[in-house]
Amino acid sequence: MSASPTTEAVADKAGTASTKTASLLTGGCLCGQVRYTAQAGRATAMVCHCRDCQKQSGSAFSVLFALPEVDLALEGQLRTYATTADSGRTVHRRFCPGCGSPVLTELPERAGLVVVKAGTLDDPAWLRPRMHLWCGSAQPWVTLPTDVPCLDTQPPSSG
Ligand SMILES: [Zn+2]
Ligand SMILES: [Zn+2]
Repeated sequence: MSASPTTEAVADKAGTASTKTASLLTGGCLCGQVRYTAQAGRATAMVCHCRDCQKQSGSAFSVLFALPEVDLALEGQLRTYATTADSGRTVHRRFCPGCGSPVLTELPERAGLVVVKAGTLDDPAWLRPRMHLWCGSAQPWVTLPTDVPCLDTQPPSSG
């Protein structure tokens, strides 16, 4: 196993047309009490089909982007609901107490990383999910893409 540094440049070569259109992302909850600004540079977009995301979103999956906590500036108060995920990890799901919109997910075991619910973006056009997680519990009518990794569960410990 070589511990080579991650080569994010590969992603650009793959022709993600919109990578440089937005370096600063803004978003917020439905009612607007919670607002954030995120640096797009180190953000990775993904889709999660786990049952908890389906329950919490009231939908078929969560669209997310993960980034270093220092790249996110948040305004407003969030409430936290802690769960134990299928992976056995504790997950802090954070939402606006005013409107109930899920805004962030944090994993205490992965300090320094924050995951934002991408549906809260003001302009989600930037998004290009680079991975689908927990596809084993994807809804049967969802067509999974063939051009990005679709994992049955989640990566062992990457990202
Ligand atoms: Zn709200
Ligand atoms: Zn999930």
